[in-house]
Amino acid sequence: MVEYDAVVVGAGILGLSTAYHIKKENPNAEILVVDKLGAAGQGNTAKSACAFRCIFSSHTNFLLADSSVEFYRHVQDDLKVDLKLKFIGYLWLLCEEEYKELYLVLRNLAQEGFSYREYEAEELAQKLKMKTSFTSDEEAKLMNLREVYKGIYIPKAGTVDADCLVRFYEEEFLKMSGKIGYGVKVNGFIIEPYEPLDIPGEPYFWQESRIAGVKTSKGPIRAKKTILAAGAWTPELLDEIGIECFIKPKKRQIFPIEAKTPELQQLLFTKEFNKEGCIPFTILPKPKVFIRPFPDERVFWVGYSDDFPRAYKLEEEPKTEKNFYEYGIYQVLVKYFPQFKDRKPAAPFAGHYAINTLDGQPVIFEEKDLIVVGGASGSGIMKADSIGRIAAALYKGEEYAVLYGGREFKVSDLSLKERKVEPEKLII
Ligand SMILES: Cc1cc2nc3c(=O)[nH]c(=O)nc-3n(C[C@H](O)[C@H](O)[C@H](O)COP(=O)(O)OP(=O)(O)OC[C@H]3O[C@@H](n4cnc5c(N)ncnc54)[C@H](O)[C@@H]3O)c2cc1C
Repeated sequence: MVEYDAVVVGAGILGLSTAYHIKKENPNAEILVVDKLGAAGQGNTAKSACAFRCIFSSHTNFLLADSSVEFYRHVQDDLKVDLKLKFIGYLWLLCEEEYKELYLVLRNLAQEGFSYREYEAEELAQKLKMKTSFTSDEEAKLMNLREVYKGIYIPKAGTVDADCLVRFYEEEFLKMSGKIGYGVKVNGFIIEPYEPLDIPGEPYFWQESRIAGVKTSKGPIRAKKTILAAGAWTPELLDEIGIECFIKPKKRQIFPIEAKTPELQQLLFTKEFNKEGCIPFTILPKPKVFIRPFPDERVFWVGYSDDFPRAYKLEEEPKTEKNFYEYGIYQVLVKYFPQFKDRKPAAPFAGHYAINTLDGQPVIFEEKDLIVVGGASGSGIMKADSIGRIAAALYKGEEYAVLYGGREFKVSDLSLKERKVEPEKLII
């Protein structure tokens, strides 16, 4: 049976970025990517809002996102591959309490050279035709909604198209003679002793054993290294062999609203913030409902990443919940943006975050010839290129990965045993 140098499980953005960087660094290596679905990026990558930001207090977050975004910019500007990368900015709408909590963090970041701009509530009310105060709104008070005190606009932030990114990595990987098998479901791992004794049922606990590939719906695939980049499905495969990865799935829902009315069109094409002439990716004060604009498609996506008591649970075909929009998101949204009044979502959908429950940062580690790449916790698109480079450095046994632009990243910092990540203070 053929033995690949590496088999990558998962053709989402993380699996493809990893496969691409491994192949680029090891052109002679035989690399096979497999995915149970029929094409690339059809898992949670396809469900993403694809927003990014390059301002973080945590150096880990900053390096992962900023280097990835700079690579995407290079692909689009220098290699002329349209990734629909748009610097439309982030607009965080903050209540007074939130602003005071973040003020020092933001000031320190400004001293380090990060740029942002503050907007007063009145300016926001006028530019966005939004409500920033709820003086005589008993309902808003009952809902515990906070008045907008300031807006923080981050220019080095925006949106990208996950499908274009996926296609870029897939095509480049194939051009380098990488192989991909779609419709191949991995059911488990091939586990073998390093020194087989040909006794029934081996390996036994007294034998040194390793992962020697995967068992799939199309038969076994042997590989020197197995790379698991199965996103939200990662723990279900690892639990079976007793490897803890601290990754748990959590459902996330998106509700697209078409900008069919003049008021919504005016909001979508708010000119004042960016050169794209559209409203930035906007986040409301707590509860942080977000608005993601698609000016070309004349649509907004709205969503909310709920926590307690949302279960850590994987649904093979996750369903959206009508009440989550009608009694949740909608009620909050219209208080700030009355333009959304009576608007119903068209074709809502749900996916999963693969959440790293330790610290919300990605996980990249190796155990018994298995490399695990995942746990991007809702920011896998904006960090995918760096994650792929770090996984490729681990594959090669290097201590440091060189991210796009030449910045170094210690590979073990995202491992489980020697993990070293800086906590994020700029959580909005
Ligand atoms: C609603 C939502 C909004 C998001 N918004 C953003 C955002 O604004 N910005 C951002 O940066 N990130 C965002 N994310 C997160 C981002 O989409 C993910 O971090 C990223 O797509 C994860 O990529 P992945 O390759 O790890 O996972 P996936 O894309 O899910 O890929 C995993 C692949 O593994 C395959 N697979 C699984 N099990 C098996 C098996 N047994 N056999 C074979 N194949 C298997 C699956 O079919 C899938 O294709 C969002 C996610 C969601 C759900």
